[in-house]
Amino acid sequence: MSIHSINQKKDEVQLEKDNSLAEFQETLKEAVEIMNYPSQVYEFLKKPMRFLEVSIPVKMDNGQVEIFEGYRAQHNDAAGPTKGGIRFHPDVTPEEVKALAGWMSLKCGITELPYGGAKGGIICDPRKMSFDELERLSRGYVRAVSQIVGPTKDIPAPDMYTNSQIMAWMLDEYDHIREFDSPSFITGKPVALGGSKGRETATSKGVLYTLQMVCEQRKLPLKDTRVIIQGFGNVGSYLAQYLYELGAKVIGISDVLGGLYDENGLDVPYLMESRDSFGIISNRFQNAISNSELLEKECDILIPAAISGVINKHNAAKINCQIVIEAANGPTTKEAINLLAERKILLVPDILANAGGVVVSYFEWCQNNQGYYWTEEEVDARLKEKMASSFSNVYTTAKKYGVNMKIAAYIMGIQKLAETSRLRGWLKY
Ligand code: GLU
Repeated sequence: MSIHSINQKKDEVQLEKDNSLAEFQETLKEAVEIMNYPSQVYEFLKKPMRFLEVSIPVKMDNGQVEIFEGYRAQHNDAAGPTKGGIRFHPDVTPEEVKALAGWMSLKCGITELPYGGAKGGIICDPRKMSFDELERLSRGYVRAVSQIVGPTKDIPAPDMYTNSQIMAWMLDEYDHIREFDSPSFITGKPVALGGSKGRETATSKGVLYTLQMVCEQRKLPLKDTRVIIQGFGNVGSYLAQYLYELGAKVIGISDVLGGLYDENGLDVPYLMESRDSFGIISNRFQNAISNSELLEKECDILIPAAISGVINKHNAAKINCQIVIEAANGPTTKEAINLLAERKILLVPDILANAGGVVVSYFEWCQNNQGYYWTEEEVDARLKEKMASSFSNVYTTAKKYGVNMKIAAYIMGIQKLAETSRLRGWLKY
């Protein structure tokens, strides 16, 4: 593959208008009905219990002040404090943040963590901001939401385009406000500041373990299995590396600018070395293809690991694989999920497959609360165990109710939310 420096512009899959909240609600309703819960359960869970919208003034490097818009949604705190990442992205909307918070609640229910779900977001383009501007924005966000977050209230973490450095600035700001050290306020921190070993790679490891369980079940040997990963950020890149090391054939990867495809398998270690901090790599190659083309290439396992809605009514009929594993949040629209099911393509849902991140965040929080730190092997073994029990529970639920894994995952998540809410007297059924 020859390196070529071209200035490509953002390559987008044909997306519909973001519909995450309506999609979350529709599937929630379907699952609540299958479980014969009263409609009150749906009415209560369809939106966050608390939603905060904030304006964050940030002094930019050019001396001007820019006002950024940010959000924090806390879906349900019956099972414990709420938990979920903060994303920095130009396309963030209040509806999307609300849906993502709901999905976090379901994820915590499926993996049996003592949390409800939350999510935060700031409308910004971190790729166009300096390091100093990002620091001021991160600190400003914490000042704006400090009343409603905290180690036993709501615990943030990284999400799209946020990382351990941003968590470190946020922790520092929080510590200043509270005037004491509170490492368990936020997870995904650098290890030197109380972060957990293995947190950085946790989501990709969780997806990997899920993929291995699916392959085992389908009697698909991992060696030479052809995998396409859409997205080369934190999740996609580590996942590609693990799969490559295990002998799978990673035949396609992509980033926001385009995709790379080679039917003989890509040189993943080389790509890992060549990407920038946002996971961008395709602009360096002459033979880049578009994200849409990549999604439709034939493979055994397709893993959307970037943004939501990339598999939708425009391309669902052309998806050419046996298994889709959702590593991103909400990458397949409801319509597409049904189309894939008709074509007997197995879909492993996001709220199960990508739960490794929040699972290790939970481990990080436990370690911070105890002041006792685990080895990477311990973290990894416990993550594997959690992914295995969650996978098996969702699989059994799917069989029991005769539903697909998406609905089964919702059923499991809802069960925990409904029961904890009922026990607190918030729901009567
Ligand atoms: N942002 C990640 C997710 O969507 C991780 C959340 C967390 O660690 O709290 O699951």
